[in-house]
Parts: sequence; structure tokens; C-alpha cells
Amino acid sequence: MQLLLEGARQLGLDLTDEHRWAFQVYYEELVAWNARFNLTAITEYEQVQVRHFLDSLSCVRALVGTEYLLPAVPGQAGFRLARPLTCIDVGTGAGFPGLPLKIAFPRLRLTLLEATGKKVKFLEHIVERLGLEDVTVIKGRAEELGQMRNHRESYELVLARAVAELPTLTEYLLPLCRLGGLCIAQKGVGAQAEAASAQRALAVLGGRLRRIIPVELTGLAETRHLVVMEKIARTPEKYPRRPGVPAKRPL
Ligand code: SAH
Repeated sequence: MQLLLEGARQLGLDLTDEHRWAFQVYYEELVAWNARFNLTAITEYEQVQVRHFLDSLSCVRALVGTEYLLPAVPGQAGFRLARPLTCIDVGTGAGFPGLPLKIAFPRLRLTLLEATGKKVKFLEHIVERLGLEDVTVIKGRAEELGQMRNHRESYELVLARAVAELPTLTEYLLPLCRLGGLCIAQKGVGAQAEAASAQRALAVLGGRLRRIIPVELTGLAETRHLVVMEKIARTPEKYPRRPGVPAKRPL
């Protein structure tokens, strides 16, 4: 687990024995369930540590310098959440990036949203197995949740990795984000171009591009990017449109 520990340290996170236990169990359950359910293409030990766990934890970079995080004290403690934070991970799959963040930040009030039933089953299992509190697993689509009163504009932090291109993804994420909150989309090399192509959608949905943060991860050659967007105005009621429409006709 050296790659994960070293990489986490570089992100300002000190993983304790308890954290290590959780990541080890998460890895074993992921691989065991993957044999039956095809949850992820990545199963090799080091690849999971870096491409799933560490990559998920790297979202913390977008929170550094915000009111959400207490500063790390070198040699003493890593970053901690300043207070419980309501967060939703849209299209979380086998739990990325939401669950590794929940392991590292126990005060996170996390909702995991996933459309596929077999992935939802795994999520329910792993949340129980890890004994995580304040995690809600929902089977559903972002287009539906975004129109529900108890979810719409409710989350301070909205996350997604590898779900859709930004012009579509913004219509999934922004309606769920509370005014003043942040949306973080994890992207690869095409982040700049995608962000440019989503400017119109962002403006329509009440969002603004805050910054794009390049992230280098221990054990990973390619550069990753966090596209950080803020919610600056209410989202018009007609968004998100019906399931399938944001992908078929992006704003
Ligand atoms: N975020 C995970 C999974 C990426 S695969 C990771 O990075 O590993 C994309 C996932 O998003 C799939 O599991 C798919 O079922 C889900 N998904 C796609 N569109 C969705 C939507 N509109 N609402 C909810 N989930 C969606």
C-alpha cells in the first residue's frame, strides 16, 4: 500500500491504521465482487491504489484554501474537514471518488448516486462492511434527483468522475449544488477544451468555472485535472431535462 500512503501524504493526508484497514477491505471486496458483477476494468493491486483510491483522494486539492478544510499541520495532522459537509457523488460506479474521500474524511455527509442496480448492491455492501456512517446510497439518475425537492440545490459539494462530457455533466451536477457550493469534475488531458465547450451550459445553469487544477499522482504518468465550478445563481426550473436528454442534446 506504499504508493497510496506516499501519494496521500503528498496530498496532505495522513492515513492511519484504521484508514489502511478500510482501503485493504475495499480492495478485497472490489476484486471479489468484480468476478461476478464487472464493476471496474482496473483490478491489479497497485493500479487500484493509484487510479481508484489516490485519484479519488486528489479531489482534496480543490478544497485547499476554502472554508471547508482545516489546514494541515506538517508532522502532526493532515487536512480535516472544518465541519460536516453535505456531498453527492454522481454516477459513482463502485464508489469513486466518494468512498475513498469518506474514508479519509469521516465527517463527510455523503450521498452516492448510481443508475445501475448491480453497482448499487455493491455500494450498499461495502458501506455496511466498512461500518461507514452518514452515507446514503441511491439508485437513480441525476436527471431525476435534480428535480426532487429534497435533493435539488441541497449539496455543498458535488463530485463526478468519468460520467459524461462536461456540457452534459454540468446539467447533472449544477442542479444538485447549493448556492455558493462547489462542483468538481475529475478529468484527464482534455480538461481545458471540455471546460471551454461547457461555458455556455455553465452560464445557463447558474455556474461559473472557478479553476482547473492539474494533479500529478505518485505512480501515474499522465496528468489528471480537477475542473472546479461554483454555483453562483439558481438553476432555472426546466433543468435538468428528462433522463437521456442532457446526453443527447447537450446545452
Ligand atoms: N465514477 C466512477 C464510475 C464511472 S462509470 C469511476 O470513476 O470509477 C460511469 C457511471 O455513471 C456508471 O456506473 C453509470 O451507471 C453512471 N451513470 C451514468 N449516467 C448517469 C446518470 N445520468 N445518473 C446516474 N448515474 C449515471
